[in-house]
Amino acid sequence: MMPGTCHWRNEFKQNFFGSNLMPANGSDVVLTIREVRPEDLMNTDGQKKHSLVCYWQENALPMVLNKTNCRTISKLLKENDYSKWAGHRIQVFVDHHVKAFGEVVDGLRIRDKLPEDAKIKCEECGKLISAAFGMTISQVAAYTHKKYGRTLCSECAKVVNSKDKKDGKEGATNEA
Ligand SMILES: [Zn+2]
Repeated sequence: MMPGTCHWRNEFKQNFFGSNLMPANGSDVVLTIREVRPEDLMNTDGQKKHSLVCYWQENALPMVLNKTNCRTISKLLKENDYSKWAGHRIQVFVDHHVKAFGEVVDGLRIRDKLPEDAKIKCEECGKLISAAFGMTISQVAAYTHKKYGRTLCSECAKVVNSKDKKDGKEGATNEA
């Protein structure tokens, strides 16, 4: 929450990320997806609503993803499976012209471009590298490049690593 902002919503208990928590200067917020999972949320009428909730690695409230935002993320990551969105970084902004129930309101949207530091591709499979092993995207890229001589995603790094181990083990057996 930005200091000095007196958005009335800040004074009510809030379970999810909203436009009132965005920077007052109107800039985007870059967040790293920790997990996306379906949840039954209670709406104001006390009815359950099946929703997709996105949790962040950063200290920010989770965000309920609507269809528009899901579509943007799946396009950006070229991945429809939301369980594979974890570790990727996205850029959130406020759209001031969202039509809801006959009113124009502020809504959170995902930019249709990735943040600069989230565009690193795996040299093996060509997919975007995600944060993994407790490292950021840039750190995974630097680490795999140093260790394997190629910039790899976590999945390909695991494959190469287990292959190296297997080869090493077999070599040792042959020597014995
Ligand atoms: Zn890969």
